[in-house]
Amino acid sequence: MTVEPTGHRQRIVRAMAQRLESLRAAGVTHLAKAAKIAVAVLGSGPNQAVHGARVAAGAQGAADEGPGGEPSDPRAAALAEIARRVAACTRCAVLVRNRTQTVFGTGSPHARLVFIGEAPGADEDRRGEPFVGRAGQLLTDIIVKGMKLRRQDVYIMNILKCRPPDNRTPLPIEAAACREYLDAQLAVIQPEFICCLGACAAQHLLGTDTPIGRLRGRMHDYQSIKVLCTYHPAYVLRNPAAKRQVWDDIQILMAEMGLSPT
Ligand code: URA
Repeated sequence: MTVEPTGHRQRIVRAMAQRLESLRAAGVTHLAKAAKIAVAVLGSGPNQAVHGARVAAGAQGAADEGPGGEPSDPRAAALAEIARRVAACTRCAVLVRNRTQTVFGTGSPHARLVFIGEAPGADEDRRGEPFVGRAGQLLTDIIVKGMKLRRQDVYIMNILKCRPPDNRTPLPIEAAACREYLDAQLAVIQPEFICCLGACAAQHLLGTDTPIGRLRGRMHDYQSIKVLCTYHPAYVLRNPAAKRQVWDDIQILMAEMGLSPT
């Protein structure tokens, strides 16, 4: 293999790591050919992107793919295809200019429960994965400590797949442009339950302008999927008193899902 100058090599490594991370986030867990390339190019450095790329490339696990290198799980393959379309999307010029990469979604293609947030923030834009910043840590606590599930058992995604400038609220026209991708993800995953995090997700999914304070605390229906709306983890970080209400909401959801209270 040609040895590239260090700066150029690092750019390639970064681009590969980001691409593989996006695929992993989209549910692609094994790509044997990419694994060989990744391991050859990335060497054995300790850096986390390298580790992520290896995991994404399936270097740590058994191959689970068809002859073309696509995931053999039809849902994972379908999600990977939608993720490719999202990564190439240029519908919202401002968002395209502002993004480092698209943030598709992460978790199990067979999840019973899908969490929907608003849009990627700075950390998510950098990592290519939803809910990885402070709000993400709180969401992880809700899933792991509260619900006794694992993050990889559920699916996590956002209304927008691109980070809005300065983390502003998504514009209705942007949410509408991205809606096709959200619907496609839901059509593949076919969850029984959705948990909308915050007003943006709840109002956009349900097509209402009812405030989140009146949407939370009870189940809704979206195309025969049971929907629970609660406050966004970022709101809870700013208003710790809302934690109690979020926990009450999560217990309603757990009861609906047949999960034992903790
Ligand atoms: N807030 C969101 O709504 N989504 C993320 O992915 C991160 C923070």
